[in-house]
Amino acid sequence: MKYLDIDKFATVINCMDGRTQLPVLEWIIEHYDIDYPDMITEAGPVKIIAENKNKALIDAIKYRMDISINKHHSKHVFVVAHYDCAGNPVDKKKQLKQLKKALKRIKKWGFEVEEIVGLWVGKNWKVKKVKF
Ligand SMILES: [Zn+2]
Repeated sequence: MKYLDIDKFATVINCMDGRTQLPVLEWIIEHYDIDYPDMITEAGPVKIIAENKNKALIDAIKYRMDISINKHHSKHVFVVAHYDCAGNPVDKKKQLKQLKKALKRIKKWGFEVEEIVGLWVGKNWKVKKVKF
């Protein structure tokens, strides 16, 4: 049996910020039946996806999502925004608007997954699922 048949992967579109990595990984493994979150990192990914202007970055995100979803059989996509983001230096309110827009746009890309979840990493580096 190949490892891909038994292990459970997820797809995480996170910021490149080192402070968000462990909290997000730990939160996902604690709250979901997932062994290996695949990490797709960019500087301020919700800004990139919400604005939809940088085609090279968008294509690179989609390329990695395709491998995570279609080769690793991930069924869950997580999209992360966080406090004090250097790549996206706007307030929480604006970031949550971008997150909402990013989730909508990713849905339109048509990957077959069960759910696309928005996460917010706050000042204390605690992770919260965002409900829209
Ligand atoms: Zn960031």
